[in-house]
Amino acid sequence: MLREQQLDSLLITHLPNVRYLCGFTGSAGVLAVAVSSKSHKWAFFTDGRYTQQARDEVSGAKVVIPRAPALSAAVEWLRSQGRSHRIGIEAEHVSVATHRSLSKLGSALKLQLTSGLVERLRAVKEPTEVKQIRAAVNLASSVFEAVLPEIKPGTKETAIAAEIEYMSRRLGAQGMSFETLVASGKRSALPHGLASQNPLPERGFVILDFGVILGGYCSDMTRTVHLGRAGQAERKMYRAVLEAQLAGIKAVSPGAKCSEVDNATRKVLEKAGLGRYFTHSTGHGVGIEIHEVPGIRKAAKVAKNSRKRQKRTQKQGGTQLDTLQPGMVITIEPGVYIPGKGGVRIEDMVLVTETGCEVLTPTPKEMIVI
Ligand code: ZN
Ligand code: ZN
Repeated sequence: MLREQQLDSLLITHLPNVRYLCGFTGSAGVLAVAVSSKSHKWAFFTDGRYTQQARDEVSGAKVVIPRAPALSAAVEWLRSQGRSHRIGIEAEHVSVATHRSLSKLGSALKLQLTSGLVERLRAVKEPTEVKQIRAAVNLASSVFEAVLPEIKPGTKETAIAAEIEYMSRRLGAQGMSFETLVASGKRSALPHGLASQNPLPERGFVILDFGVILGGYCSDMTRTVHLGRAGQAERKMYRAVLEAQLAGIKAVSPGAKCSEVDNATRKVLEKAGLGRYFTHSTGHGVGIEIHEVPGIRKAAKVAKNSRKRQKRTQKQGGTQLDTLQPGMVITIEPGVYIPGKGGVRIEDMVLVTETGCEVLTPTPKEMIVI
């Protein structure tokens, strides 16, 4: 990929990418790779806090604990390898300030912005990664089951979130993939409703959306339960979202376009007259980070002249990001949000296989009335 981009080196500063490439799980470090026609050399730079950890974790790269800041030491090293003429940096993850200080390190330095190179590799999971993801998904599902009895009118949303997070840690999670969402009653119409101090109502939907990190990999799941008797409108709404979710899963197979999967969920909700209340995309990749490529959404409208360029970038590294491939792990999470009333979302994690897909989330999806 680097040769295709005519780069002779790359500075990897985004920590999830560093972790993916060399195994380091700490919070500070820079990985550098120097490319030549015959071979490439890897070196990892961190500080004194991580001397031991880097030695234990890093594989495939020389570990350096420099006196200077890691980034400038990495550039120095590239210079010493004679590979500092065209240095790739991760444009999405380098701050303006870092870019400025890199530029100051030498006028001969030619920085080239790259975008999503390592992320593209990460989109297709190795079997060991799928195993980790599966374990995270299963842990979260058992948390959901354990937390169900706590969901009752009068309990604060934050208390439910606290229960979910406490239970996750008790079961061995390293942390949560993102801030736990608990949105009840009218708040369930907020697609991204963080748990508030509101007590759960006597009657209404409660959306629970959460994920755990286990072994460095994230999980993500949403279930919507109903407190009190559910009326016909609520049942219809829930059924439509579930049907949309199942249609989305059915559309997942290797070679399918992400936009087709998005369209499959959207079509069901449109048919049910709820299309305009489905205000986000159908899903996203999940792995070391909670939101990864590919995005399961409508194809972006691109101007004609940039289409060629886009095609070219998408092909780099062999992973075309608008098409599903075996090994990708994505979410399917359609939702309906009616302002002033409430909302429903159902989210599973799905592995793209050679023949179709496998739903990783084991939690049942029939409407739970409490
Ligand atoms: Zn989610
Ligand atoms: Zn999600």
